[in-house]
Amino acid sequence: MFDGDAKWIGKPGETSDVCPEFVRKFSIGRPVKDAHMSITALGVYEAYCNGKRVGDFVLAPGWTVYEKRLQVQTYDIKDLLVQGDNELDVTVGRGWYASPIPGWEPKGGISKKDRAARRTGLIAMIVIEYEDGTQDTVVTDNEWNWRQSKVRFSEIYDGEEYDASFEDHTLLPVETFEHDRNILLPQEGEFIKETERVNAVKVIRTPSGETVVDFGQNITGYVEFDVKAAAGDRIEFLHGEVLDREGNFYNANYRGAKAKVTYICSEGSQTWHPHLTFFGFRYIKLVSFPGNPKKEDFRAYLVSSDLKQTGFIRTGHEKINQLISNVLWGQRDNFLDVPTDCPQRDERLGWTGDAQVFARSATLNYDVEKFYRKWLHDLKADQRPDGAVGKVIPDLMPGDPPSAAWADAAVIIPWQVWQTYGNDTVLKDQFSSMKAWVDYIGSVTEEPYLWIGGVHYGDWLGLDAPAGSYRGSSREDFIASAFYAYDVKLLIMAGERIGQDMSEYRALFDKIRRAFRQRFPECTTQTESVLVLRFGLVDDAQAEADRLAERIRNDGMRMMTGFIGTPYLLHVLTEYGYCDIAYKLLLKEEYPSWLYSVNKGATTIWEHWDGIMEDGNFWSVNMNSFNHYAYGSVIDWIYERSAGITHLENEAGFREALIAPHPDPGLGFMDADLTTRNGRIRSAWKYTNDGIRYEIEVDMPAIIRIGGSEEKVGPGKYTFWS
Ligand code: BGC
Repeated sequence: MFDGDAKWIGKPGETSDVCPEFVRKFSIGRPVKDAHMSITALGVYEAYCNGKRVGDFVLAPGWTVYEKRLQVQTYDIKDLLVQGDNELDVTVGRGWYASPIPGWEPKGGISKKDRAARRTGLIAMIVIEYEDGTQDTVVTDNEWNWRQSKVRFSEIYDGEEYDASFEDHTLLPVETFEHDRNILLPQEGEFIKETERVNAVKVIRTPSGETVVDFGQNITGYVEFDVKAAAGDRIEFLHGEVLDREGNFYNANYRGAKAKVTYICSEGSQTWHPHLTFFGFRYIKLVSFPGNPKKEDFRAYLVSSDLKQTGFIRTGHEKINQLISNVLWGQRDNFLDVPTDCPQRDERLGWTGDAQVFARSATLNYDVEKFYRKWLHDLKADQRPDGAVGKVIPDLMPGDPPSAAWADAAVIIPWQVWQTYGNDTVLKDQFSSMKAWVDYIGSVTEEPYLWIGGVHYGDWLGLDAPAGSYRGSSREDFIASAFYAYDVKLLIMAGERIGQDMSEYRALFDKIRRAFRQRFPECTTQTESVLVLRFGLVDDAQAEADRLAERIRNDGMRMMTGFIGTPYLLHVLTEYGYCDIAYKLLLKEEYPSWLYSVNKGATTIWEHWDGIMEDGNFWSVNMNSFNHYAYGSVIDWIYERSAGITHLENEAGFREALIAPHPDPGLGFMDADLTTRNGRIRSAWKYTNDGIRYEIEVDMPAIIRIGGSEEKVGPGKYTFWS
């Protein structure tokens, strides 16, 4: 990727907070035919050629398991070069590589202190081909220099400090250093970009006298501002997601993340945004800002992986439409190279459980094949020698044991990516990792054919949690064993798909199923019932579904499920004849429900159903994110059951669609559109005076199931009534 002469360069010795700007001057004396720059950094970089930005990748090179995999970007820079003198300037910030993450001292791995002390660096190679057939190469080496940039501090959790008035152009020698080059690989994932702009909606003066700018949307990225100032004027602002009960600025839920921007002005009019970090926020509090700030002076940019939207849903219910918008925003806000739990507090980590429960929804909303395949390569790279998979990927806590339903992401996500997109490569790439995870469970369980023992998160945040606990009442061994069974089932299907002999695992699956029924003859919680129904672990499924429906009624028509049960709850209810209950739960407005947060003004999905409680107080200070996509997984039920856009279980890529809508008068109408690898699918229904009118359009053959009858159709547009 780089020829042998390209060296890692860094600023010598010390590790001060100032971000270095690496500089290389060179001249061009002949017409250029082609020019490319390949570049990557330990840290995050932003490159300029003759004062013009190279590419539009924000926070390049993104986030991977840096110890083993570092992506290299290649940009076409021909149009940025000039005849005569040229200059390259590349600023490198700490990024994920050298910030003290996670927010707590991790078990095993690199300590916060050591991570923050890691040396940042740059490697690059520019190849210039001239029209006369000759070629020049410029590589990072001792001919480069560095100088102090205006970025005085930049870090993932704490924010950025920029001094626009700082002028010291002294060029200093760089130091070359050795760093493993085998970790370098061409860009695999999506580029991270500014994918949307949101203008500020108002400037608020809060009861306690603070000046707060409201963007009207919880967003991940940064704020750009315009200001007219005197050199040396100071701007400082903090980020927050919500206002408190009194309407004052609040961000105690960011915990250790300072999420602060400091900007020292130069003279005159200027426009600026942070470049080497990001925040999750809806509001900013202006701690200091010269003059009289107006909303027109502020805009926010969504910084996320550049994903193409594939799913579109509109209904006759405005609050459900808002919920759908919240799910889509939650995905974009948290798909920033790694699927993260949240974008604001001192986490922003690739929690495997959150990723797993949302994966199905994610693949329908946006084209995330490339995004997940890259992250799954990271998962595989960080898989431990015994097959265990960490709680977060990149695995910053390698000393923590794996948790069921978190680590199962290793099996569930590749399978899901294959199902939605139909490309066998993901199964081929991940099969050894999937198998190693399944074998790990078999090697650590205290009882054969189940997963007994271990340390798990259980039904995280389940509403049936005993007082003071985050873990719901579903039995952890039950959940772990159920997911073991599910993993093995998926592994068998995946293996057979790519031509592996899976007879050993078929026999294993039968033993697991038998052992499971013996050990857990009865379900004791909503989530337990949901799991056995969804994973096919019960003989009389209808009777179990009846009991689940009864339990929900006895619980006051309330779901008690947490992270693990909630994503499947409406699916199993619909599957076994309780679609009416599924709709009741979907359309419910009191706590706990999806629409409760919508009524409270949410613009993304909350970590807790009642992150803001009825009385306006917060659920807690230390675990209260307002941008956690996990419960947004309800959207896959809306696609698959309400609109009815799905496929047969062992089918992939929507080569043949299965359209089985479940209308409900509460929604009024449904209009869902999905772009698949095999064309477009539209499923719409509407309540009219003459009954329910269905409109179905498919680009592929489909089975259409409406009101008890089934029809096989070819590509086309169809209307039905019931
Ligand atoms: C994260 C979750 C995650 C959990 C593990 C939290 O701090 O934000 O979403 O899955 O820890 O239980």
